[in-house]
Parts: sequence; C-alpha cells; structure tokens
Amino acid sequence: MAAPDSCVKVAVRIRPQLSKEKIEGCHICTSVTPGEPQVLLGKDKAFTYDFVFDLDTWQEQIYTTCVGKLIEGCFEGYNATVLAYGQTGAGKTYTMGTGFDMNISEDEQGIIPRAIGHLFSGIEERKRAAQSQGVAAPEFKVSAQFLELYNEEILDLFDSARDPDARHRKSNIKIHEDASGSIYTTGVTSRLISSQDEVNGEVTSLLDGAQPTTEYETLTAKFHFVDLAGSERLKRTGATGERAKEGISINCGLLALGNVISALGDQSKKVVHVPYRDSKLTRLLQDSLGGNSQTIMIACVSPSDRDFMETLNTLKYANRAR
Ligand code: ADP
Ligand code: MG
Repeated sequence: MAAPDSCVKVAVRIRPQLSKEKIEGCHICTSVTPGEPQVLLGKDKAFTYDFVFDLDTWQEQIYTTCVGKLIEGCFEGYNATVLAYGQTGAGKTYTMGTGFDMNISEDEQGIIPRAIGHLFSGIEERKRAAQSQGVAAPEFKVSAQFLELYNEEILDLFDSARDPDARHRKSNIKIHEDASGSIYTTGVTSRLISSQDEVNGEVTSLLDGAQPTTEYETLTAKFHFVDLAGSERLKRTGATGERAKEGISINCGLLALGNVISALGDQSKKVVHVPYRDSKLTRLLQDSLGGNSQTIMIACVSPSDRDFMETLNTLKYANRAR
C-alpha cells in the first residue's frame, strides 16, 4: 500500500432536522453545492472540505468514504484517528456510534461498531488467505482502552465501569513517549478483544499487533475514536468555580487540537513546531495525528437556522484544518 496521502482530512456532516426543530418552525439554513464538497451557510457563506455529507446521508456512506481506508491502513501499520467535532446535539455521538445501544438497526450503526466489524473481518480474511496459500497464518492481537478526558485529567472508563468510585479518585494514568516517538500510557486498563461483541465505547484506542521480537515480523497500529466535547463550550465565559475550570480545560483541548491540526495542514509551508504538548488530548493523539498516520475530522452541524452561529463557528474551525 502506498503511504497515506494528505494526513488530515476534514468532512462536514449535516444532520437531518429533529422533529422538535420542525415543530418549532426552524428553517434549514444549510445546503450542499451539487457535485462539490462545499457547504453553503445562509446565502453567501461557502466553505469547501474534503467531503461534505448532506442531511440525507446514511451511516454506511460516512463509514465507507471516511473510515474504511483507515482500517485497511492499520493492517499496514499506519495509526489512525477519527474525531467528531461540533456543538452539542449536532450528531457527534450518532456519527461515532457507541456500541452501547443494542436496539439500533444495523443501518443506523455508527463508525465505531462498523470499524470493529471491519477490523475483525479483515483479520479473518488474512488468516484464510494465509491458509489457502499454505503459509503460517499471521497472529493478531487486538486490545482496547476506553478513556475520558475531563479537566485535563485522564479517566479510565473501563475502570469506572467496574468501580463507580474510580471516577472520583485521581487517576495514576501517565502519558509517555518512547525513543521512536510512539506514545503510550501507563496505568490504563487494556483489554484483549477477540470479537466484535466485546467492544463498546466512545473513546477507544485499538492496539493491533504485539511487542516487536526478533523472530517475527510484527506490525502495530493504533486507532483512536474521539467523541469531542461540545464545541459551544469552547468560548464560554463568565463561568466560575468548577464550571470555569471545566470550560478552561475544554478550551485547552479543543484549541490545542485546532492548533495542531492547522499546523499539520501548514507543513508544506514549513511550520516546524506542532504544539502537541499544549493539552492532554493532543499529547495522547500525538503519534496518531500527522506523520505516518491518517486522520479524519468529521465536523457535525445542525441544519437549523437557530444554530446558525454555532454552525458558522464549527465550519470555521473545520476550515482551519485544511
Ligand atoms: P452530539 O453527540 O453531537 O451532542 P447526538 O449524536 O447525540 O449529538 O445527536 C443529537 C440528536 O440528533 C440525537 O437524538 C440523534 O439521534 C439525532 N441525530 C444526530 N445525527 C443524526 C442523523 N444523521 N440522522 C438521524 N438522527 C440524527
Ligand atoms: Mg454526544
């Protein structure tokens, strides 16, 4: 496989209007230019991205267009990151999918369950191919972590699912970088996963492969699925106490992410410093954003006129990434 092309791609997804918005008489203020990845907001604000999905887009199309190639890349050892950005209610969680909701139809499944299914079917395919060629089947090891970043602290959600009090303890999780620039964490629960049913979560890192040894050729790849905090909180001011602290740390992560992504987009223009260290989020994603990895940011927006300003902010933020 050829090296991935542009390392950061940006998609915009416009969700359909919710019944509440229809009942309350909201008008649709977004449109997509036919045949072009361009969103028009209101009459005259046009933005172009790598992909634009209008409000009637199926989950499968999002997966196939934006994510499928990244999973294939994992089999070649490329790290990948899928980020969902946008205001609360814009469709981030719907788009990422959680795996928690067992009642949804297959058509409605989001990115995470589809990616896991793709990963395991890819593993089976490679084992079968080896068998039919009469060579030793490759071994695969998949493990998952499930983390939340809150107030610049990392919470282990596998841990807090087991023990609800864990949420209130200061975690011992640390982020490290090895000599080759790979990022790894200590103090985080890693679960070995052997089938799709074992995985669910909102922020999940997959580790595919094993520790390198001299006897075998091994490939490792990490896949991050990131459901970001609601972007409307990016600029919240006037809050005090805990809320202010929360607002500041959300700012910290989302601002740092915007800065990193825009610095990566500028690399042709010789930006030397990519400010990964400015937040836990960007530090955690450091080896999976840019470089030898593939990233897609899916900016989710509401089509309704009452969300016009937040949609404009999201489109601008996403535009910086290009
Ligand atoms: P966020 O995670 O950004 O706060 P959600 O994903 O929870 O937003 O979406 C808000 C509401 O809109 C939910 O009820 C969700 O089911 C619905 N929704 C979002 N995107 C779509 C879509 N593409 N098609 C149908 N319903 C959607
Ligand atoms: Mg959500």
